[in-house]
Amino acid sequence: MLMKFGDISNAENVFFEMNTKDIITYGTMMQGLLENKLYEKALDIFKQMPFKPNEIILTILFKICSEFTNEQTFQLAKNMFNEMPKIFYEKLSLINSYIHMLMKFGEISDSEKLFFLIENKDTTSYTVMMNGYNMNNKPEECLKIFKQMQEKNIVADEITYIIILNACSQIGLLSIYEPIVNKIPSNLLKHHRLQAILIDMWGKVGHVDKALKIFEHIEKPDVMIYTAMINAFGLNGKGHEAIDLYRQMPIDIQNEFTHISVLNACSHSGLISEAQSIFNNIQVKTKRITTVMVDCMSRMFMFDEAQKIIDDFELSHPPGFVMYMALLSAARNHRNSIISEKIYNRMKNLFPQKKQGLIAASVLLSNTYLSIGEDEKAKEIRFKRLSEIGKNKIVGITWTEVNGEVVQFKAHDHSHPRSKEIYAEITRISTELKENGHQYDSKWITREINDNESIESVLCGHSEKLAIAYNFIQQPIPNIIHATKNLRICGDCHSAIKLIVKIRQRPIIIRDANRFHHFDINGQCSCQDHF
Ligand SMILES: [Zn+2]
Ligand SMILES: [Zn+2]
Repeated sequence: MLMKFGDISNAENVFFEMNTKDIITYGTMMQGLLENKLYEKALDIFKQMPFKPNEIILTILFKICSEFTNEQTFQLAKNMFNEMPKIFYEKLSLINSYIHMLMKFGEISDSEKLFFLIENKDTTSYTVMMNGYNMNNKPEECLKIFKQMQEKNIVADEITYIIILNACSQIGLLSIYEPIVNKIPSNLLKHHRLQAILIDMWGKVGHVDKALKIFEHIEKPDVMIYTAMINAFGLNGKGHEAIDLYRQMPIDIQNEFTHISVLNACSHSGLISEAQSIFNNIQVKTKRITTVMVDCMSRMFMFDEAQKIIDDFELSHPPGFVMYMALLSAARNHRNSIISEKIYNRMKNLFPQKKQGLIAASVLLSNTYLSIGEDEKAKEIRFKRLSEIGKNKIVGITWTEVNGEVVQFKAHDHSHPRSKEIYAEITRISTELKENGHQYDSKWITREINDNESIESVLCGHSEKLAIAYNFIQQPIPNIIHATKNLRICGDCHSAIKLIVKIRQRPIIIRDANRFHHFDINGQCSCQDHF
């Protein structure tokens, strides 16, 4: 009871002073500490318990263990699971909580095996599995489980829909949203969290009207909903609407995310003085808020002002990597090699430990030189990057959806059953590209070329090209080709796709780590080459 009100130390005192503690007392204490996010203490109580754990204790234990990341805790949970009586396999909550823990530790195949064995799967079993796939960057698997759930007529609840919509939002393909949204029962649509996610989602796919329709039907929007709507306006270039809504909402419920959303909205619409006045009025300027403001100034190429904001921030905080990335990326768009070089050198000094980040920064720097035709300098930077920092370890992945099925491609992926046809199509596309003047350029290759490869074969193996080729071997070919990439699109893919849409007369929409690219059949991209 005490724990429900967060009165931890009192509850602990009572617990330790009790002379006779039974297994229920231990369970209650563990549960209370878990709910109050005191995981270490909760685990200690378990370790002190002199009884053989029953199913309830184990269920709580797996929930506690899933909050840890160390191998030791994982082994403890695994041992407890292996030693428990076989009859416990029929206890659904216990199995669900164990699967959740396995997924948290990235043990996907063990989770799958266990999930497959459950005979009477309930809503939670499916939801835990779906959530696990999302956590492990496999949103396409999450969709598959949702489909199975529907086929088995298992009722989806609010949480299930939140998770499935999160998967959709990771994949970012409009065609898969709509059928799922249409399935949401009207009673669930009243939940604020679900409403906020829907507003967010419609905003992300460019349907701000649909987002607004949901918003207008909500009687008393909370901070999540206001923020989602401000963000939806911002993403769709409606900066003034975003500011109006921000000013309308009660000040006492605004939080960090609300401030970030409105500043982003100003930034995307180029409303600099509005952004400055909002920023100046924010009481607590967190790292994230400051980063957005730096990004806002940088986009307008106001480098001195952006630097001033960084300097002010650093008076009382350690430097933030992302702020410098915003500055560097703007300098690249401005084709300003002097500023780029200055920022990059400062980053190398400030963040020597951020290897992956410095690789991305160095790619931006070499791209700046490429954009002003200084290819030799760019090559030199690339060479330095490989020798000083190392290779980029993040693998590029592209998702595309064809006939209701989401397919994932890695670079040089041969795992798809129709791989042969895909590569034959790539060869055809590549021939057409070259006939239309496309030149493959080694400057877009960020790794060493092996003996059995050519510049063309390396660039043609990029995951977004494979995903596009896969669309072109469909009967019929989709009217619009959609794909989502986890990293930024490279320069070769960008210019190749501009030609492909023109040659094949199919629009292609790609969402990359940075933004949307709408490639129109006239050969233009909506980003105006700011990729
Ligand atoms: Zn590429
Ligand atoms: Zn583009």
